Amino acid sequence: MFGLQGRVAIVTGGNGGIGLGIARGMAEAGARIVIAARNASKSRAAVDELSTMGAEAVAIEVDVTSETAVASMTEDVMRRWGRLDVVVNNAGTNIRTPPHQVTLEQWRTVMDTNLTGAFLCARAAYPHMKTTGGKIINIGSLLSTFGAAFAPAYGASKGGLVQLTKSLAVAWAADNIQVNAILPGWIDTDLSRGARREILGLEQSAVARTPMGRWGRPDDLAGIAVFLSSAASDFITGTAIPVDGGYSIAL
Ligand code: NDP
Repeated sequence: MFGLQGRVAIVTGGNGGIGLGIARGMAEAGARIVIAARNASKSRAAVDELSTMGAEAVAIEVDVTSETAVASMTEDVMRRWGRLDVVVNNAGTNIRTPPHQVTLEQWRTVMDTNLTGAFLCARAAYPHMKTTGGKIINIGSLLSTFGAAFAPAYGASKGGLVQLTKSLAVAWAADNIQVNAILPGWIDTDLSRGARREILGLEQSAVARTPMGRWGRPDDLAGIAVFLSSAASDFITGTAIPVDGGYSIAL
């Protein structure tokens, strides 16, 4: 029920952090993995790691904000493996600036990467999943629901991603494509290391506020990603599932 043998999965931003944690889990469950990101040497290292585990994996250099690059990525996957079963829209970025200081360029960079990129990847996958069914998993955030003074564009993009998840889920339900979002809590990655450098006391306050009393690890996201990619979740669509050690339910 949870096996992904023979399935082909694109993981955007899969060359590090949460994306690589998810890619490892899905590879262990039998999926063939496409690491889709910009930094070719990081992607090669990720592919090497997955290959060492015995998985089939390839890297495709892609900027998810580019409509043509995303279209050619899915064509490339279809040429190589002839099917596309799962897209994990994980590529993301943040620029931590108070709203009145955010430039239009910064706003667009965050929105284009986190929200438009996910839309482009889902739209490019649809024609290939339409006849076979498929799974789209969008990586949201605590800031899909909470507000933060330092992250207006990030919060808007991640809130939008949850709404996009619902629209795609409804639109494509009849095609047997399930679309769900995962909302990670504070996870130890390059992105959150940047946050800890910039936000005084975050290292400790995240632990204090999280009932499970620790930072998350990229591998903590693997189980939910395997579940949402597998037949076990075939009647689940349009949801946004927190994986945050209890952060979002604690007073
Ligand atoms: P990382 O910075 O480690 O990973 C971000 C990934 O996105 C990198 O692999 C990067 O690869 C890729 N990426 C960024 N921009 C683009 C682009 N334009 N095109 C293609 N790939 C891109 O951060 P995390 O692992 O922490 O973040 C992964 C996701 O999880 C993000 O969506 C983030 O918002 C979300 N998240 C993270 C949390 C945390 O606490 N860490 C909490 C909640 C959500 P490259 O530079 O090679 O392109």
